[in-house]
Amino acid sequence: MATRFESLPRRRRRGAVVHLTAALTTVALAVVALSTVMTYIHIRPAELPAQIPTPPLDPFMGVSLSYRDDSGYEEDVQTAVADWNSIGARVRLVPAAEGRTADILIRTISSRRRVDWAGRTWVSCDTAAGPCRPRGPQTVLLNPVHMRDRDRRLAIVAHELGHALGQPHRHDCSIMRPSGPIMCAGRTVCGPELTDALVLVRLWGGNITADFQPRACDSIDGQESDF
Ligand SMILES: [Zn+2]
Repeated sequence: MATRFESLPRRRRRGAVVHLTAALTTVALAVVALSTVMTYIHIRPAELPAQIPTPPLDPFMGVSLSYRDDSGYEEDVQTAVADWNSIGARVRLVPAAEGRTADILIRTISSRRRVDWAGRTWVSCDTAAGPCRPRGPQTVLLNPVHMRDRDRRLAIVAHELGHALGQPHRHDCSIMRPSGPIMCAGRTVCGPELTDALVLVRLWGGNITADFQPRACDSIDGQESDF
């Protein structure tokens, strides 16, 4: 009897252990299943970008004006082009493809020609009436007599490319002043200033980029350049 009385609770205990084991197994299986689902959920987004078509990194939606540089001042032209392109307007200066007609031809006049100007641009719209979008072939001429020190060369090229982008002369703090050396708040100007950037984005659309900075220039000797 004593054995029978003692064996009953032991059987109950064994049954409870079986139930507890079954419950723990169920919980463990549930945890494994849940973690598998979570892993799946976490892995999926990482796999997605490879399956989604990647848009172009540089979706430029503006106007490209091509140029051919036969001036011999390649480095100055490239620097001035980069300065204008860095503004963020929906217009861009790009080198003309081989064998294609350029929108802008950049040339140097013979130093034997005795002209008193440093640069001239034949613009295909009427900048005398205000900023305008050029629509046809244009020519920039540079006078080697004035293309001396680097920052003077940059100022002349940046000014003429400003015309080719449709900018008229201005007399505020601007690379578009008609003669130089251009001084602005005690600084020498040899590239587009903020005012030039504002005119460009107003004319072509776009937004001035956070990276845009007027070029820092060395002082230019006092000899007047008319452009
Ligand atoms: Zn000019």
